[in-house]
Amino acid sequence: MSDHAHTLPTDTANGLLLILSGPSGVGKTTITRGVERSIADSVFSVSVTTRAKTGADVEGVDYHFVSEAEFDRLIEQDDLLEWADVFGKRYGTPRKWIEEQLRRGRLVIVEIDVEGARQVKAKIPEAFGVFVLPPSEEVLLQRLRDRKRESEEAIQKRFAEAKREIATAREGDVYDLFVVNDELDRVIAEAVGAVQDRRG
Ligand code: 5GP
Repeated sequence: MSDHAHTLPTDTANGLLLILSGPSGVGKTTITRGVERSIADSVFSVSVTTRAKTGADVEGVDYHFVSEAEFDRLIEQDDLLEWADVFGKRYGTPRKWIEEQLRRGRLVIVEIDVEGARQVKAKIPEAFGVFVLPPSEEVLLQRLRDRKRESEEAIQKRFAEAKREIATAREGDVYDLFVVNDELDRVIAEAVGAVQDRRG
């Protein structure tokens, strides 16, 4: 992907890019939707992905589902703010839409992995990074099993990847805040409070 730095002129001082990351099974989508509901001018950035659409996914709401060729084209045209390979499939964040929303002074929420977050922070250092942690490794493993989405082998793979992702997130300086998803309402309130403090 090209390494152009994109400057994002904002009309109002309030535009903020909120990066939300965390291992799969930690409940980050529920937290993201909770933050979105709690902050009136927030918008959720719908990512582009080459992964297959599942029965639970809604095109244009959860993701924009595209072919490998289409994804290549988006990279070539510099249409993605960041992109990363996650579990062998590619995921990326549309750039122009986000720039427009930030210009309008909105809170833009991107739910992306650690690698994507690193790229976003490099381009937009003022982005606010929140990483969601499970209360414990045991709880995370149980949540992955409870989803009943995958085989035990796939669950173990995700669990190992989750532990790696948490370690990577802790080592770097991409995240401004680590929150533990012990109780949903509490963790949403904590994230919302931190965003409001940041926006002033
Ligand atoms: P899932 O396929 O379970 O919906 O998502 C798998 C992983 O991809 C999650 O960890 C999610 O945060 C990450 N992801 C989703 N969209 C993007 C994106 O646009 N960019 C990056 N880098 N990661 C993403």
